[in-house]
Amino acid sequence: MYRTHTCGELRLADVKKEVTLCGWIQKIRHLGGMIFIDLRDRYGITQLAFNHELKPELCEQVEKMGREWVIQATGIVIERYSKNPNIPTGEIEIDVQKVNVLNEAITPPFTIEDVSDGGDELRMKYRYLDLRRNPVKNNIIFRHKLGLEIRKYLNGQGFLEIETPFLVNSTPEGARDFLVPSRMNPGEFYALPQSPQTLKQLLMISGMDRYFQIVRCFRDEDLRADRQPEFTQIDCEMSFIEQEDILNLFEGLVKHIFKTFKNIDLEPIERITWADAMKYYGSDKPDARFGMRFVELNDLLQHKEFKVFNEAELVVGIKVDGCGNYSRKQLDGLVEFVKSPHVGAGGLVYILCNADGTFKSSVDKFYDQEDLKAVAVRCEANPGDLILIMSGKAMKTRTQLSALRLEMGNRLGLRKAGEYKVLWVVDFPLLEWDEETQRFYAMHHPFTAPKPEHEDMLESNPGAVNANAYDLVINGSEVGGGSIRIHDPELQKRMFKALNFTEEQAQSQFGFLIDAFRFGAPPHGGIAFGFDRLCAVLSDCDSIRDFIAFPKNNSGRDTMLPAPTPIAQAQLDELNIDIKIPQNAK
Ligand code: ASP
Repeated sequence: MYRTHTCGELRLADVKKEVTLCGWIQKIRHLGGMIFIDLRDRYGITQLAFNHELKPELCEQVEKMGREWVIQATGIVIERYSKNPNIPTGEIEIDVQKVNVLNEAITPPFTIEDVSDGGDELRMKYRYLDLRRNPVKNNIIFRHKLGLEIRKYLNGQGFLEIETPFLVNSTPEGARDFLVPSRMNPGEFYALPQSPQTLKQLLMISGMDRYFQIVRCFRDEDLRADRQPEFTQIDCEMSFIEQEDILNLFEGLVKHIFKTFKNIDLEPIERITWADAMKYYGSDKPDARFGMRFVELNDLLQHKEFKVFNEAELVVGIKVDGCGNYSRKQLDGLVEFVKSPHVGAGGLVYILCNADGTFKSSVDKFYDQEDLKAVAVRCEANPGDLILIMSGKAMKTRTQLSALRLEMGNRLGLRKAGEYKVLWVVDFPLLEWDEETQRFYAMHHPFTAPKPEHEDMLESNPGAVNANAYDLVINGSEVGGGSIRIHDPELQKRMFKALNFTEEQAQSQFGFLIDAFRFGAPPHGGIAFGFDRLCAVLSDCDSIRDFIAFPKNNSGRDTMLPAPTPIAQAQLDELNIDIKIPQNAK
């Protein structure tokens, strides 16, 4: 037997027991006639004590050891003289009788401690060492527990976990696919699934009724902190349900998660329409932990000589409480922020609501005190508040003001960790017009059902059709999304038509689904949650990477393995692939 206990297990009640522990040496300290080792494993740290005088040979052996060596130590549990209240095993130590070196270790490239001296890149290259550190390890343990609890909950609701294939067909609609060449079928490719969307719909046609899967999805997109080329969804689908059933069932799941992991009893989840989310927050995933709702000002500000406003489709502002005393420098800082490339606005107009009831604005040349007062009244601003106004094309301006709103929320500490605001965003538009390609795209995906009362407009006014689609948003993060699906083959055909598909294109890409619908498709719908993101949001963390054991960097690389790498010519030949390697390739 390698060990009798783990390094996180022993307490005062175990004193006098003979035990054997295994683990990694976190630290060796010499203190007077003693040597102390912090022995670490997944479960914690236990102090090993070696007495020079009583066991000189043992101490000589220990002196040769180094950080991260793997050892096995046998000894007696004793009460510690100076206790460490910071760790659960802090009241005891092991008076070691015998040590066995299981493996030596070279010096790690960074310190394996809660706060490490290793930079991001180094820690990613040696991720297996990074995973020895508590903060990273605990994230992975949290992920495991969350997954388990979700499985238990869904099982309790009658869901079956069913695996779907990773080697599937490519569907150009949506994000870019990762492709896999087929050796046995020269010139043909599989795609890795962007999600099991069509497969879970087929499972409904199979009569599986309630399906879920905690499943890897692959999308070849440009990456950000909260995106990975492969990520995990909690993918769900149900038959014989309406939108209301789905929202209620998964509200139950979300509440259960918050209760179990945060001990928070969530309020009933508020619902906001997509149109209102855009109108009041400029975003389809609003962070509703704080107000600063948008106030539209066209009618109040388009009657003077200020061309910027007069020519704008939308003039819209936010009121920031208590910032009416902002200095010129602070205001300039905000202007700079909105002009930065990631916001991309032309400028920003501000109105300071002075303590004496007067107003000072960056557009005093055009607007008198009465004009400014009208704006302040509309914004419900009090003396001492600040009003920030942006203008331009409606959608673009909303997005830009939304960025400013979040920035102000950050600056004022209104986006508090540990506080959660969960929303259902409902009534999404079915289609989205793309200027560049001059066609409509499915806002969610091509299988999403229009609201029955809007079905008639699919041909006459497609842009005005709303969908039975919904997103779950937590603190400004889109954590889940889904929809009621089309189950009528005729309606699906009309949808493909609205998306500019010829009948042949629809048949060649989605023929299998259209055909399947003819064999008795039940009314169905579903939702998928981003599992990595859910882990991050529940831990008040921005990066999903911290919750993935072996994540990729922003260029989609795993620097540890490493991947991707060039492939030997023989392998390429076998796959019948003739590639032109770019000049600048590594
Ligand atoms: N498959 C969808 C997605 O990946 C989710 C859903 O509609 O269930 O976004």
